[in-house]
Amino acid sequence: MALGEFDLIQKYFTRPTRQAVLGIGDDCALLQPTPGMQWAISSDMLVEGRHFLATVPPERLGHKALAVNLSDLAACGAKPVAFTLALALPRVDETFLAGLAQGLFALADTHGIELVGGDTTAGPLNLCITVFGDLPPGQALRRDGARPGDALWVSHPVGGGIGDARLALEAFRGRIALSGDDFEAVRRAMELPQPRVALGLGLRGVASAAIDLSDGLAGDLAHVLRRSGVGAVIDVHTLPVSPVLARQPLAVQRDCALAGGDDYELLFTAPANAEARVLAAAAAAGVAVRRIGWIDTGTGLRLQDSQGTAAGLAPLGFDHFTG
Ligand code: ADP
Ligand code: MG
Repeated sequence: MALGEFDLIQKYFTRPTRQAVLGIGDDCALLQPTPGMQWAISSDMLVEGRHFLATVPPERLGHKALAVNLSDLAACGAKPVAFTLALALPRVDETFLAGLAQGLFALADTHGIELVGGDTTAGPLNLCITVFGDLPPGQALRRDGARPGDALWVSHPVGGGIGDARLALEAFRGRIALSGDDFEAVRRAMELPQPRVALGLGLRGVASAAIDLSDGLAGDLAHVLRRSGVGAVIDVHTLPVSPVLARQPLAVQRDCALAGGDDYELLFTAPANAEARVLAAAAAAGVAVRRIGWIDTGTGLRLQDSQGTAAGLAPLGFDHFTG
């Protein structure tokens, strides 16, 4: 490597320590848990070609690598504290590193968290972040708490919806044509997801179960249903979609919203009588939420349209883009 490994870490990733007892530079970082709190820990790896395209600007890649991890803390209702970064780089490209660090630290600063360690090696471009958050014992939002009768909710950007990241991916693949403005809007959704940390914190003690949307709503909901031993019905006409996605054929809208992936919104359940508290938590977090269905004793996920008739399961293969 042109710039040595340690110089690279020093130049791009080492900043003054804030809360950590010991940050970057020793064999371990040292974190002091807040008395009485539990750690919430999660790792997510981003691999070029699989989780991001080579066309992503480095600032956005830095943002997204941390955002997808913070989204996991949000889904558990944990408060972010610190993170580590394991990085494989094919070459030392200082323009790339400067951009990556800028995007990473901008989001870190938004959440008041610090980078406390990591690993750096030569190899195919790959970023693995581990986040550390904390929460009071017994208050984590989990996947196994959904109960029959609970309402099913999804968060979404104010004035926007879910499924835009998938629409962007299909546009990048050349399977769908979008105007310049529409493409930029959905590209932002794909490359600059906003982790719903404040909403997750506000849903502690309100939501009965939660998960963040990374693989697509239907698939992620299936995890909650299985872990909770319940079923669910979704009113497909209530799924929030952005103005851009709303201009696509209905089948494309449904596929993107139900099976898109990369949304990083929160999907959660709450008792029917908790609606006012859900709306208050969303308003305080500056996020929109939509009630899209309910939990029942049935099997798996069932979809129904505005007439209440079964709409079948969405074809998860995205046939609509190729046909
Ligand atoms: P070791 O050989 O003991 O595993 P390293 O030489 O790999 O340690 O790393 C030296 C220091 O730099 C350690 O404190 C490590 O946590 C930190 N570090 C290495 N890579 C990164 C990175 N990409 N981001 C942040 N800290 C890093
Ligand atoms: Mg060591």
